[in-house]
Amino acid sequence: ALEIRNVHKSFGTREVLNGVDLTVNPGDVVAIIGPSGSGKSTLLRTVNHLEKPDLGYVAVHGDLIGVEVRGTHLHELSQRAVRHQRTRIGFVAQSFNLFPNLTARDNVAEPLIAHKRLDKSAAFERAVELLAKVGLGDRGDAYPRQLSGGQQQRVAIARALALEPTLLLFDEPTSALDPELVGEVLSVIRQLAATGTTLIIVTHEIGFAREVADTVVFIDEGLVVEQGPPAQVLTAPHHSRTREFLSKVL
Ligand code: ATP
Ligand code: MG
Repeated sequence: ALEIRNVHKSFGTREVLNGVDLTVNPGDVVAIIGPSGSGKSTLLRTVNHLEKPDLGYVAVHGDLIGVEVRGTHLHELSQRAVRHQRTRIGFVAQSFNLFPNLTARDNVAEPLIAHKRLDKSAAFERAVELLAKVGLGDRGDAYPRQLSGGQQQRVAIARALALEPTLLLFDEPTSALDPELVGEVLSVIRQLAATGTTLIIVTHEIGFAREVADTVVFIDEGLVVEQGPPAQVLTAPHHSRTREFLSKVL
């Protein structure tokens, strides 16, 4: 589903990604862990075309061409190709990123109207179905400010699902939530994992990573230090940097 090869990214003189390689197969659930500032968000943003790699290659799905930027041989995707590719990638960030002036239903319907060209009534019907999937079928009329953080994040997930993405990216989806609201969001992600959607989740919830991920990837200083099944990376890591990180967060 996703191939990342030798991706480099700097901001000014700060090298944030130093040659990241990562392969994600269709249906995989990948948890990315690592210290603050190690480049996890930047990596996800690169996959979703929110950042451009300075060097390297990102390919998303067979029929879609990836982004390739190699030295002076710039091969840039057309704006149109980028837009199309982004409709196939769902992105859920730490902050809920809902339109405050739209109801939950309208937030979810918006991409259906804008990108799928559904008419309003079809989009609203589908939006309510999607809200039901995340346990909010009866809250379609609520505005974001009338919902709890966990509910808002579930609306954001429903919206990310609207375009039936083949790849779903989560960047610390629970880190802005009060502890008692984390569980409801994790349970929605757990359900998605069980349906075979390809998921990449940046998370500090190590227990959750252990439970849902097929692969755990530990990133430090812009490099994949190690990756493997949770039982290996989280229980018997090969690298001292992984051990050190886990000893701080577990
Ligand atoms: P956290 O766990 O705290 O979310 P992270 O692993 O997601 O950290 P990134 O957000 O990818 O880390 O940031 C990596 C580094 O890149 C940080 O030092 C950050 O300050 C820097 N950085 C990220 N985005 C930008 C930007 N747009 N301009 C300048 N520096 C940036
Ligand atoms: Mg981050």
